[in-house]
Amino acid sequence: MTEKTFSIIKPDAVEGNFIGKIVGRFEEEGLKIAAMEMRHLARHEAEGFYAEHKARPFFGELCDFMTRSPVVLMVLEGKDAIAKNRKIMGATNPANADAGTIRKLFSKSVGENSVHGSDSPEAAAREIAYFFRGISVYSKK
Ligand code: ATP
Ligand code: MG
Repeated sequence: MTEKTFSIIKPDAVEGNFIGKIVGRFEEEGLKIAAMEMRHLARHEAEGFYAEHKARPFFGELCDFMTRSPVVLMVLEGKDAIAKNRKIMGATNPANADAGTIRKLFSKSVGENSVHGSDSPEAAAREIAYFFRGISVYSKK
């Protein structure tokens, strides 16, 4: 099924000069960049985006990290885009990520893991709407 998912290139990867390489991985795998914006997130945006993790001990650290420097916000589109993006990203902890995944290639730690990707159709719809007003989560194709 052709669908859309939401992706963030996180501050560690932007600082490391990996934007091009990460976008290249998505394109190589057949995902289209349907929307893209680079900017520095406000604290309240990071807190709202990761609200599901509010009670976790790493929440403060996570929001500090996500607002440390600019990020790249993207909508990716393609066949099975949600699952495909998660596969290209690799496991949350780069130590457990498969060879060739973005997190294995570029990430330093479980906290600074280079990319975010929606983990379900519901999350994709919510996250796309959170950052990109007016973009339909559905595809015509
Ligand atoms: P994301 O939601 O960013 O795509 P994920 O779905 O693989 O990542 P989640 O469990 O949703 O993982 O955690 C969200 C983010 O919180 C992680 O990507 C990471 O940046 C941070 N995080 C998760 N676990 C830890 C931890 N134990 N210590 C520090 N940070 C963590
Ligand atoms: Mg997650």
